[in-house]
Amino acid sequence: MYYVEDGTKRCGLYTCKECGMRFLDVKIAPRISCPYCGEEAFDMEIGPDDEMPEPTENAILEEVIEGEENVERYDALLSLAITGGNYDWI
Ligand SMILES: [Zn+2]
Repeated sequence: MYYVEDGTKRCGLYTCKECGMRFLDVKIAPRISCPYCGEEAFDMEIGPDDEMPEPTENAILEEVIEGEENVERYDALLSLAITGGNYDWI
Protein backbone atom coordinates (compact mmCIF):
# COMPACT_ATOMS: atom_id res chain seq x y z
CA MET A 1 0.00 0.00 0.00
CA TYR A 2 1.23 3.40 -0.96
CA TYR A 3 -1.25 5.87 0.47
CA VAL A 4 -2.94 3.98 3.26
CA GLU A 5 -2.02 1.13 5.53
CA ASP A 6 -2.52 -2.50 4.67
CA GLY A 7 -5.95 -3.66 5.66
CA THR A 8 -7.59 -0.26 5.30
CA LYS A 9 -11.27 -0.86 4.64
CA ARG A 10 -12.48 2.62 3.99
CA CYS A 11 -10.82 5.73 2.68
CA GLY A 12 -11.48 8.80 0.61
CA LEU A 13 -10.37 9.45 -2.94
CA TYR A 14 -9.28 13.06 -3.20
CA THR A 15 -8.32 15.37 -6.00
CA CYS A 16 -6.34 18.47 -5.26
CA LYS A 17 -7.62 21.51 -7.09
CA GLU A 18 -4.25 23.21 -6.66
CA CYS A 19 -1.85 20.65 -8.09
CA GLY A 20 -4.26 18.14 -9.60
CA MET A 21 -2.86 15.27 -7.60
CA ARG A 22 -5.18 12.37 -6.84
CA PHE A 23 -4.63 10.39 -3.70
CA LEU A 24 -6.23 8.34 -0.98
CA ASP A 25 -6.51 9.24 2.65
CA VAL A 26 -8.08 7.32 5.51
CA LYS A 27 -9.45 10.62 6.70
CA ILE A 28 -12.90 11.21 5.24
CA ALA A 29 -13.86 14.85 4.98
CA PRO A 30 -15.31 17.05 2.25
CA ARG A 31 -11.98 18.87 2.02
CA ILE A 32 -8.57 18.06 3.42
CA SER A 33 -5.17 19.60 2.98
CA CYS A 34 -3.18 18.25 0.07
CA PRO A 35 -0.09 16.31 1.19
CA TYR A 36 1.74 17.44 -1.95
CA CYS A 37 1.21 21.17 -2.01
CA GLY A 38 -0.67 21.89 1.22
CA GLU A 39 2.28 21.45 3.50
CA GLU A 40 4.05 24.54 2.31
CA ALA A 41 1.63 26.48 4.42
CA PHE A 42 3.21 24.97 7.50
CA ASP A 43 6.57 26.59 6.98
CA MET A 44 5.72 29.51 9.21
CA GLU A 45 7.18 29.89 12.65
CA ILE A 46 5.26 27.51 14.83
CA GLY A 47 6.36 26.75 18.33
CA PRO A 48 5.65 23.37 19.87
CA ASP A 49 3.01 24.89 22.13
CA ASP A 50 1.23 26.76 19.40
CA GLU A 51 -1.91 25.40 17.95
CA MET A 52 -1.74 24.03 14.46
CA PRO A 53 -2.82 26.67 12.00
CA GLU A 54 -5.74 25.95 9.76
CA PRO A 55 -4.25 24.08 6.82
CA THR A 56 -5.06 25.02 3.28
CA GLU A 57 -7.65 22.50 2.29
CA ASN A 58 -7.16 22.15 -1.42
CA ALA A 59 -8.07 18.52 -1.84
CA ILE A 60 -11.72 17.77 -2.49
CA LEU A 61 -13.32 14.45 -1.65
CA GLU A 62 -14.39 12.76 -4.87
CA GLU A 63 -15.49 9.44 -3.63
CA VAL A 64 -15.46 7.22 -0.59
CA ILE A 65 -13.81 3.91 -1.34
CA GLU A 66 -15.15 1.06 0.74
CA GLY A 67 -13.96 -2.49 1.08
CA GLU A 68 -10.41 -3.65 1.57
CA GLU A 69 -10.11 -4.93 -2.00
CA ASN A 70 -11.32 -1.70 -3.51
CA VAL A 71 -9.03 0.35 -1.36
CA GLU A 72 -6.14 -1.85 -2.35
CA ARG A 73 -6.98 -1.56 -6.03
CA TYR A 74 -7.26 2.21 -5.98
CA ASP A 75 -4.11 2.46 -3.97
CA ALA A 76 -2.20 0.36 -6.49
CA LEU A 77 -3.63 2.19 -9.48
CA LEU A 78 -3.02 5.66 -8.13
CA SER A 79 0.50 4.86 -7.09
CA LEU A 80 1.11 3.32 -10.52
CA ALA A 81 -0.06 6.54 -12.10
CA ILE A 82 2.59 8.38 -10.13
CA THR A 83 5.35 5.92 -10.86
CA GLY A 84 4.52 5.87 -14.56
CA GLY A 85 2.58 2.63 -14.87
CA ASN A 86 -0.58 1.99 -16.85
CA TYR A 87 -3.38 4.38 -16.29
CA ASP A 88 -6.27 2.66 -17.99
CA TRP A 89 -8.61 2.09 -15.12
CA ILE A 90 -11.39 4.51 -15.94
ZN1 LIG B 1 -2.03 19.70 -4.11
